[in-house]
Amino acid sequence: MKKKIRLISSILFLLLTVSVLLFINKYQKDQKIEEAYKAKAEQNADTLLLAEPQTQFGIEIDSFHIVEAKIKPNEFLANILLSFNIDYVTIDQLAEKSKDVFDVRQMRAGKKYTVFASKDSLKKASYFVYQPNKVEYIVYDLSDSISIYKGEKEVEIRQESVSGVIYSSLYESLQAANASPALAVELSEILAWSIDFYRIQKGDWFKAIYEVKYVDDQAIGIGRVIAVEFNHFDKTFYGFYFDQDGKEDYFDEEANSLRKAFLKSPLKFSRLSSRYTMRRFHPVQKRWKAHLGTDYAAPTGTPIMSTGDGQVIASSYTGGNGNYVKIKHNSVYTTQYLHMSKRKARVGDYVKQGDIIGYVGSTGLATGPHVCYRFWKNGKQVDHLKQDFPSAEPVKDEHKEEFQQKMQKLKKELDSISLNSKEEFASK
Ligand SMILES: [Zn+2]
Repeated sequence: MKKKIRLISSILFLLLTVSVLLFINKYQKDQKIEEAYKAKAEQNADTLLLAEPQTQFGIEIDSFHIVEAKIKPNEFLANILLSFNIDYVTIDQLAEKSKDVFDVRQMRAGKKYTVFASKDSLKKASYFVYQPNKVEYIVYDLSDSISIYKGEKEVEIRQESVSGVIYSSLYESLQAANASPALAVELSEILAWSIDFYRIQKGDWFKAIYEVKYVDDQAIGIGRVIAVEFNHFDKTFYGFYFDQDGKEDYFDEEANSLRKAFLKSPLKFSRLSSRYTMRRFHPVQKRWKAHLGTDYAAPTGTPIMSTGDGQVIASSYTGGNGNYVKIKHNSVYTTQYLHMSKRKARVGDYVKQGDIIGYVGSTGLATGPHVCYRFWKNGKQVDHLKQDFPSAEPVKDEHKEEFQQKMQKLKKELDSISLNSKEEFASK
């Protein structure tokens, strides 16, 4: 009985093994067939590509002997064309005819040109193409009667990304990451209302998605910045490009414009008690003097907010100011808040708009609890109520859904960019 069972189980095992092997074999065969099909398809694609005529500047290159070079010092159109068997009369005609399209005297040493010459031993020029820059070109068609025309190469826009940790400057971090330093200017302009790029910190980091313009697979410059994430003092700032009604702007993740206006007042609820004036009777000193600030009266202990993003450059006490805090917002604007009962900001702190930096009091020369709000523009004290700030409209309600979708997608893309770490940077 036991023998019988052993025999049956052996047979079953054998059958199972065979079927598994057969299955594997079939699978491998299928795979091979698939691969063969793939190879065939690729081959077809190659032949298709080859079948298409190869052109340069819209001229079929197959029929010509192509000579590419750069104009040498003291080389002119005449020198070049003479060496390609074009006679003086034709060259003269060419120069004359060219005037409406391009002045041949404007050809500069170092610029690229291409000659399409005949394939025979004569090597006579049929076309001469001059490239004043990477995009434009001028074609001198000598194949038939002379014709001259301007063309432009196709500029391809590709989306690229960059990241970096800052150890000296944004400019150098971008260079280290092989990105165009021109991006530094773009980024600092986009984030100018949130970050003072003169006060960038070691260890700040950034990620950006931006456009690069390509001609013939060569980068010729940057396009617009699509999205940026900037970490400054361990606070994250986002900027997302968005076009609403044909107006291009950058917005944060809450759809607010990055060109932040200042808060109208450093207090949530307050009463404007004394305006900025060149002449007022000082209530404590009992004499006429300028009042270079705006007073907002509120009960002692009312929180005082920073009216914009910025860095605390002073947090101190003087007999006149009492407890005060001064904040530099960017290269243009600085604000100051006086007579606090208590300060809640230290020098070097980075604050965001609306952050509490102290509490209303009447320290220093003050008759009652209020905050004296002072405002500097380019180092000069001004009346903040009379300032024209850039409009800072958020994304309109009717565009919010579209913005949300785009922003979420870009945020994910930013998240997927790995940060060039400290070690990597150091090894570069
Ligand atoms: Zn005041």
